[in-house]
Amino acid sequence: RDQRRQRLDRAVQVTDLRTDIAHSARIYDYMLGGKDNFAADRAAADEIVKHLPTLPVSMRANRDFMLRMTRYLVREMGIRQFLDIGTGLPTSPNLHEAAQAIAPETRVVYVDNDPIVLAHARALLTSSREGGTAYIDADLRDSKTILESAQLRDTLDLSRPVALTLIAILQFFTDEDEAHEAVRALVEPLAPGSVLAISVVPDAERESPLSDGVAAYRSQGIPMKMRTKAETERFFDGLDLIAPGVAKVTEWHPDESADPDDRVPHMYGGVAVKR
Ligand code: SAH
Repeated sequence: RDQRRQRLDRAVQVTDLRTDIAHSARIYDYMLGGKDNFAADRAAADEIVKHLPTLPVSMRANRDFMLRMTRYLVREMGIRQFLDIGTGLPTSPNLHEAAQAIAPETRVVYVDNDPIVLAHARALLTSSREGGTAYIDADLRDSKTILESAQLRDTLDLSRPVALTLIAILQFFTDEDEAHEAVRALVEPLAPGSVLAISVVPDAERESPLSDGVAAYRSQGIPMKMRTKAETERFFDGLDLIAPGVAKVTEWHPDESADPDDRVPHMYGGVAVKR
């Protein structure tokens, strides 16, 4: 554990966080009310929200989906291992906290390729004594690096089911073949009973405020891909989608916290099982 911490610290020391340039993870943190953001991030966020005032609401709804999905997998499906890629900045409760509140033995490996997330990764290593958490600084495209890393091997047992969670990351993949290849390479080695959970930015009518928001992101130098329901369902080909299938995140096993406001262009979410 100490060695891992030292590795993290060394990695952070050699990193330039480029706080002068807006960054998606810090924009998201700012919109969720976090403190790990800089002036450039806040300026970009304010500019984007001008074009898409509902964005903070849909970001919160996405975060709530992540938490409901985690609790559902632990409680209803007996999942005790998670591989969460595109983790983002620590935002309480984090995935392992939601899971371990129900099953303390749950083990979670977090992956992100952003140096600012790496710099804050210690806040993700607060596992219960019975479970475990680890952090890997890697790109979703580098499935081999992720699957073969010592952190993953020490934390997860790949002969048992794992939930692969890709929450609000695939919109950064503008090349559809590359996105599918990245997901396939990670699902393929997982044991039967494993789960794929994703959320994506939905495709909207050309006139809708959502395309304005996406254009605003792009103008801040952050590429963004929107997907139709059918395009989203393709990620689950060969897997068994759990009801209600691909749905607005607020309509996926909703609880009281879900926002019923239909005018908000919410993200799509879906969860499927590998047989
Ligand atoms: N999953 C969290 C955070 C989403 S923000 C949530 O839904 O609340 C998206 C995160 O994906 C950011 O932290 C960003 O750094 C990360 N990310 C973007 N592209 C990535 C890639 N190719 N590999 C790994 N992480 C990536």
